[in-house]
Amino acid sequence: MASRSHRLRQDDKRYVWHPFTQMADWLHERHPIIERGEGSVLIDVDGRRYLDGVSSLWVTVHGHRKQAIDRAIRAQLGKVAHTSFLGLSHPLAIELAKALVRITPDGLAKVFYSDNGSTAVEIALKMAFQYWQQRGGAFARKTRFIALEEAYHGDTVGAVSVGGIDLFHQLYRPLLFPIRRIPSPYRAPWNRRRRLDALARLESMLSRHHDQVAGLVMEPLIQGAAGMLPAPSGFLKAVRSLCSQYNVLLILDEVATGFGRTGTMFACEQEGVAPDLLCLAKGLTGGYLPLAATLTTQQIFDGFCAPYGEKKAFFHGHSYTANPLACAAALASLQCFRREQTLKRLQPKIALLRRELESLRLLAHVGDIRQVGFMVGIELMEDPKRGKAYPYEAKMGIRTILEARRRGLIIRPLGNVIVLMPPLSISSKDLIRMVRIVGDAIRVATE
Ligand SMILES: *Cc1c(COP(=O)(O)O)cnc(C)c1O
Repeated sequence: MASRSHRLRQDDKRYVWHPFTQMADWLHERHPIIERGEGSVLIDVDGRRYLDGVSSLWVTVHGHRKQAIDRAIRAQLGKVAHTSFLGLSHPLAIELAKALVRITPDGLAKVFYSDNGSTAVEIALKMAFQYWQQRGGAFARKTRFIALEEAYHGDTVGAVSVGGIDLFHQLYRPLLFPIRRIPSPYRAPWNRRRRLDALARLESMLSRHHDQVAGLVMEPLIQGAAGMLPAPSGFLKAVRSLCSQYNVLLILDEVATGFGRTGTMFACEQEGVAPDLLCLAKGLTGGYLPLAATLTTQQIFDGFCAPYGEKKAFFHGHSYTANPLACAAALASLQCFRREQTLKRLQPKIALLRRELESLRLLAHVGDIRQVGFMVGIELMEDPKRGKAYPYEAKMGIRTILEARRRGLIIRPLGNVIVLMPPLSISSKDLIRMVRIVGDAIRVATE
């Protein structure tokens, strides 16, 4: 067994390039090679067990090896693994579209499939742009997008254009389309004043330039990759009303927040907001297979319906659009939500998590703890009292997660922010264990 794991590790270093990874470091580090999963636990080739504290990067919902989802995929596999969605359809994609329209906010009426969060956003941007082009007249001048500072919408070039995280995005600026940006009001300490500043900037931008703006894209309630930054309450609702007032399409990126992660099925429900376009991915299949959806309104859909010769179709699609195995997983996941009352059973766990996190506030280098539902960011700082951050080179986030890993917990940092995002199905016992390990890891890494 040991030799097998050694061989795998060598071949990984020889042949593989990992995402968001400084490979020069990777080549002389030792990383778990995960072979199996059970519920909230991941098991590596050496038989070591780890709690999955970030839901395998924000995707796992009901845990690993969820029987109902395993079974649904196997049943579909007995029929066909993949057929095209171009010129053809299939039962599960139809059923899933109907289910998504039913559970998402009113007004969203059509589902366009793709296979990851970045493409779900690309599609929303292209749809919004093309919609105004096809409305014609003065509307054809609506070609620009508004996005927030610190935003993250994915890694393909269109999604990077609306992104606002310098570390990931700055280098590519020459390749990107120009956008208008409003300050993120999400940064702690957030308060009424910050919210009003961001809204005032947005209102002044819209009052001057709305005739050139196709849409505004944002992550509702919490900016994830920015470091888990919660929005001031009421911000989303105010943005919705400005977008409506100035005839600008609101695109909500719920790739991270969707499917229960914030405590409700979708984050926008918490402020009673319905977007014009909604982007879903990550948790859509319960974390099993790549599938994404961009939902939109009848009005936008109608803007693409015209005589064939007018060439107003949405000329976009992917080889694996609406993959049947992925649709089977998604439908089974939604069924689990209903049958097991996942959201109802999540509420006491959110409260428990909040109480457990309180204990970490006593640690000397914990600067801030931010939580929206099951999305948590713990910001480590060199000197919280003076607001002094750790330098990037200190790799404090990485050092902490390596200590956590030694103690049987897998997590991923965002810079100096420790992210916790366990599967919604995690037990109270494991939730408590997770926070205890994080506390120990922070203590050892920062001492
Ligand atoms: C992860 C994420 C994306 C990108 O999704 P991928 O499936 O990784 O391409 C887009 N938007 C948000 C808010 C995300 O968290």
